[in-house]
Amino acid sequence: MYQEPFSVEVKDVEDARIQAPNDAIVRVTTAAICGSDLHMYEGRTGAEPGIVFGHENMGIVEEVGSGVTTVKKGDRVVMPFNVACGFCKNCLAGRTGFCLTVNKGFAGGAYGYVSMGPYMGGQAEYLRVPYADFNCLQLPMGEEHEDDFALLADIFPTGYHAAEMAQVSPGESVCVFGAGPVGLMAAYSSILRGAAQVFVVDRQPDRLRLAERIGAVPIDFGQGDPVEQIKDRTGGEGTDKGIDAVGYQATVREGDEQPAVVLNTLIECVRPTGMLGVVGLYVPADPGGPSESAKHGELLFKMGRFFEKGLRMGTGQANVKAYNRQLRDMIVAGRATPSFLVSHRLPLSEAPDAYQHFDQRDDGWTKVLLKPAM
Ligand code: NAD
Ligand code: ZN
Repeated sequence: MYQEPFSVEVKDVEDARIQAPNDAIVRVTTAAICGSDLHMYEGRTGAEPGIVFGHENMGIVEEVGSGVTTVKKGDRVVMPFNVACGFCKNCLAGRTGFCLTVNKGFAGGAYGYVSMGPYMGGQAEYLRVPYADFNCLQLPMGEEHEDDFALLADIFPTGYHAAEMAQVSPGESVCVFGAGPVGLMAAYSSILRGAAQVFVVDRQPDRLRLAERIGAVPIDFGQGDPVEQIKDRTGGEGTDKGIDAVGYQATVREGDEQPAVVLNTLIECVRPTGMLGVVGLYVPADPGGPSESAKHGELLFKMGRFFEKGLRMGTGQANVKAYNRQLRDMIVAGRATPSFLVSHRLPLSEAPDAYQHFDQRDDGWTKVLLKPAM
């Protein structure tokens, strides 16, 4: 439970309960900590004390409401982080990240996330899942692939979404900025889609090592301008596609005076007419921030260069539902093992400590899975 900036605590809360006929209650077996939780953890979003975090959840169905028809007690399920109705214009078009029903004031809903609806998070023993028939993805029974399946709630489909928005195709080259969990999943997805050359830019050695392990080329931006490093390796052309898995929290290279805007760096790294997939967040809704515009992620964007190069760009929350069934089946078939990046499996009681390490990007803390039954 969130207390104040840089502090979460483990406390007893009321058990989740059925509130509508189409709800289910899931006993959580795995809930991951996400880079997106850190926006709230660091106090940038005006999160109220008492909010239970956790939008990357899987578990066993404990109870279903009278209107739930396909999901039943005992089923093993994973929930997309998006809470979605399944029948609005956007859901019908597969854009469940922008459901128009669940959260009218904003685009889309999520569990345990400030401004994304009244849904409690799953870093807990139980979770209420609205529109349960739509929002539960069935998994094979048993305990196999638990950590791989847990990543279907968010980062694997989100990485895939980035590659989809950039239309990464067989034989292409791609540069991915950010070797956090999302960037690593974007690189992994690009490789699954047949990319010939994938560069991953970061400056954290442990994360760059993981990128190398999956067959990507690590680019350490602490060692020199990433644009030059990538152009050197692509015959001066730049890559076909580019992915931003950093967002507004980009850190600046030593000696650089400009604020780091990964989007502008990507524009230089990608060849003319290339495409960009942007999944890094650009909503630094800092309540004490300097201006109204900052709340909307206003930044200096080199539109002239973007236009000159005829680039295209896709942005936004991942529509997890559009990919999670296919990615589940790749895991089952042994063709995808996203859990290679999981570094820690911990009981809920260790969450406060885990948040601290993950927030500090401490060496080796790539992805934390909380296991309430541990
Ligand atoms: P993370 O903070 O763990 O990873 C970000 C990485 O970027 C870090 O390893 C950091 O060292 C690196 N970085 C910082 N500045 C950089 C720069 N200038 N160039 C290259 N790399 C740089 O976070 P994460 O969990 O991987 O998530 C990444 C982003 O994706 C966050 O903004 C998160 O909120 C967002 N996200 C979006 C969605 C979505 O649906 N669109 C879903 C999940 C997460
Ligand atoms: Zn997440």
